[in-house]
Amino acid sequence: MPFAALQCELDERAAQGLLRRRQLLESAQSVRVKVDGKPCLSFCSNDYLGLSNHPKLIASLHAGALQHGVGSGASHLVSGHFNVHQQLENELAAFVHKPAALLFSTGYLANLGAVQALVGREDTVFADKLNHASLNDAMLLSRAAIKRYRHNDMAHLEQLLERTKSGRKLVISDTVFSMDGDLALLPELLALCELHDAWLLVDDAHGFGVLGKQGRGSLTHFNLDSPRIIYMATLGKAAGVSGAFVAAEKVVIDTLVQKARSYVYTTASPPALASALLASLVVMREEEWRREQLCELIEQLRTGLAGLPWTLMPSFTPIQPLLVGSNENTMALSEGLRERGIWVPAIRPPTVPRGTSRLRISLSAAHSRSDVAQLIGALHELAR
Ligand code: PMP
Repeated sequence: MPFAALQCELDERAAQGLLRRRQLLESAQSVRVKVDGKPCLSFCSNDYLGLSNHPKLIASLHAGALQHGVGSGASHLVSGHFNVHQQLENELAAFVHKPAALLFSTGYLANLGAVQALVGREDTVFADKLNHASLNDAMLLSRAAIKRYRHNDMAHLEQLLERTKSGRKLVISDTVFSMDGDLALLPELLALCELHDAWLLVDDAHGFGVLGKQGRGSLTHFNLDSPRIIYMATLGKAAGVSGAFVAAEKVVIDTLVQKARSYVYTTASPPALASALLASLVVMREEEWRREQLCELIEQLRTGLAGLPWTLMPSFTPIQPLLVGSNENTMALSEGLRERGIWVPAIRPPTVPRGTSRLRISLSAAHSRSDVAQLIGALHELAR
C-alpha cells in the first residue's frame, strides 16, 4: 500500500486522542443548530454578533448576486476587481481609521501575503508565542529571521528588539488571542515599536466587530493611531460573511497590491460577498445592542461558572476558555455536554500547548440569558 505510512500517523494520532472529526451542520450557522441529525445549543462559532444569518445580509448577498453574478472570474489584478470590492475597501479603511485597505479572500491568506510582502531574508519578525497559526506560517514563508517572545512578555520582546541591529523589524501579534480570549498589550507593543523603529502588524480577527465603539476593533478600543501599525481583520467572524482585509498607510497597501503573492495569484472573492459585507458594516454600526448583549452574557457566564473544578481563563471577550488539562478529560466534558444537547468544542494540541486542552466556549449576541444559564447548569451537573 503506497500510503501505509500515512495510515500509521493517523493511527498514532487516534491513540493519543488527537484525531479530529468534522461534524455535519444541517442548518444555518446559529446558536441553535442541527448537527449530525440532532438539534443542539451551540457555543462553537465565531459568529460573535449573530450576523451570519441576518436577513439584511442575506438580502444584500442575493441582490449582489443578481447584479454581479456569482463568480468574480479572475484575480483582482487581471479583471476580477469589482466596484463593490473597491467600495468595501474604502468603507473598511474609514471604519478602522486608516488611509487605505485591501481585501483578501481569507484571513489566513491576508496574513501570509502581508508578512511575505513586507519582510524578507535580511529582516526580522518578532512574534508572540501564542499567535495564530496563520501568522506563524506567514513568518516562515517570508524567510525573515524569527524571534518569538513569551506570551505578552514585553521585557522579553524588548530584549529581542535590542539585540537586532540590522534589517527591517516587524512585530506581529494577535490582538485577541484566539484560544485564550485575552488581549495583547497593544499600547506597550506600539511604544516598543516606536522605540526600536519596528513596524507593528496586528491580527484583529477576534476584535473586529466586537471591541471598540461600533465594533471598530482593537485600535479604537485602545484609542491607538499610528502610521507604523498595519491592521488586519477577518470578515468571517463577527462580520458574519467571509474574507479579510489589511488596512494601513497607502504606501503599505500599494506594496501589498504589487507583492503579496496570496493577493496577486488568487481569484478575487465573489463580489456578492462584498455586497453582504457592506450591509454587515451598516448593522455593526447601527445595532450597538449586540455588543451590549455580549457584555452581559460574558458577565453572566463568568459569575455562573465560579466554583467549578476547571479554570475559567481570564478573558472579557466572547472567547471564554475553560481549562481542563488532559485531552481525555476535555473530550469527556465536551461529550457530556453534547449528551445534554449543548455543543462546545474541545481544543487540543497542536492548536494549544500540551497539557492545556480546554473547552472553548464562545458567546454570541444571538444567545439569550437562558441559553447561557443552560450551559452553566450543565457544567455544574457534570462537575458533580
Ligand atoms: N487570525 C486569527 C487570529 C484567527 O483566529 C483566524 C481564524 N481562525 C485567522 C487569522 C484566519 O482567518 P480566516 O478564517 O478568514 O482564514
